[in-house]
Amino acid sequence: EAEQGFRPLDEASLVAYIKTTPALASRLGGGSLDSLEIKEVGDGNVNFVYIVRSEAGAIVVKQALPYVRSVGDSWPMTRERVYFEASTLREHGRLCPEHTPEVYHLDRAMSLMAMRYIEPPHIILRKGFIAGVEYPLLADHMSDYMAKTLFFTSLLYNNTTDHKKGVAKYSANVEMCRLTEQFVFSDPYRVSKFNRWTSPYLDKDAEAVREDEELKLEAAELKSLFMERAQALIHGDLHTASIMVTTGSTQIIDSEFGFYGPMGYDIGAFLGNLILAYYAQNGHADQANDRKAYKKWILKTIEESWNLFQKKFVELWNKHKEGNGEAYLPDIYNNSKLLSVAQKKYMTNLFHDSLGFGSAKMIRRIVGIAHVEDLESIKDASRRAECERAALNCAKTILKGRRQFETIEQVIVHIQSFD
Ligand code: ADP
Ligand code: MG
Ligand code: MG
Repeated sequence: EAEQGFRPLDEASLVAYIKTTPALASRLGGGSLDSLEIKEVGDGNVNFVYIVRSEAGAIVVKQALPYVRSVGDSWPMTRERVYFEASTLREHGRLCPEHTPEVYHLDRAMSLMAMRYIEPPHIILRKGFIAGVEYPLLADHMSDYMAKTLFFTSLLYNNTTDHKKGVAKYSANVEMCRLTEQFVFSDPYRVSKFNRWTSPYLDKDAEAVREDEELKLEAAELKSLFMERAQALIHGDLHTASIMVTTGSTQIIDSEFGFYGPMGYDIGAFLGNLILAYYAQNGHADQANDRKAYKKWILKTIEESWNLFQKKFVELWNKHKEGNGEAYLPDIYNNSKLLSVAQKKYMTNLFHDSLGFGSAKMIRRIVGIAHVEDLESIKDASRRAECERAALNCAKTILKGRRQFETIEQVIVHIQSFD
């Protein structure tokens, strides 16, 4: 990819860029744009995110530099991630506009995109969980987003030629996939300078993860599944800091890891992060709020997210069963008994994949490189370690025993048994 045309922007040069880019200038009301207000808000570890305001409106601009922001130039990373983020967001936006911000502009040479500003009172979902806020529509919205984006980019809806075209396009997002391969599926299971955990409390627990052969075999199988199974165009980083919410709205951002991968990776990311939020609650409980009711709400949200997803996904399948999808051709499978057997099998496998990926994502957040604010914000290290140990033990048993679960209700009982 050409270095030509790339310049890292700052607040001042971004103003000049916007003025000479009609697609952006018009979103801000056109005119002289002399009083643009720019704020860099990238709390993420990776990229630069600016909120740009004029009297007429606001937009968000995101730019990738050729390295990981929080580390610096010692950690190079392709700027092409912005192209994949904008492409995934556009495709998911076409399929589920209710829960994705519109992409206004992509400048691939500049590794820069602009999108709708998700206005306050939207906050990052993880922060809502830490504050103990209930989001009554979250399960409904997330199941909608996942059912639509996953179903409509799969072979249940598309023919194999179109599907392969998509796979080919996104298979170039190889560097981002490699991060996942290393940090989710490899490093937690070996000694790595990137790993960290709440020491000394969890020293033995981290060592036990590295020495658990059964666990390592499962992790390796999931890694292969992640790399080999081009099932649908997944978001690839669907944790609770990639979701912005109010009590009435849910918006999914930050799809730079997008590629054709296993559906269960997205579903598991979301469910696994809900389970982490659940185990973090004991660390946030205080005299004013014991968080018991809130923990119940999280469990109910886990249950509803899967059950609603499954219902909506199968509904889409039934609705489009005579369409172009080439996985289950209607002249072979349009027999209601056979179709329902096929659907039951598909959903059972997807459930087990989701539990596997979800628990692998929990484990890596406790003994791997990147942790979650839900747990990190528990100041007292021994109290935090207790929450983390419960989450870790729960995740290990789910990862190893995931094929024994038949319903999400059974998983909920299992989660509570480690609390
Ligand atoms: P990174 O890839 O570096 O993690 P994110 O896409 O997660 O970047 O964005 C970082 C932060 O910027 C988010 O946590 C959020 O607070 C803010 N942000 C990103 N996109 C938007 C948007 N469209 N509207 C409002 N805020 C946003
Ligand atoms: Mg992010
Ligand atoms: Mg990101």
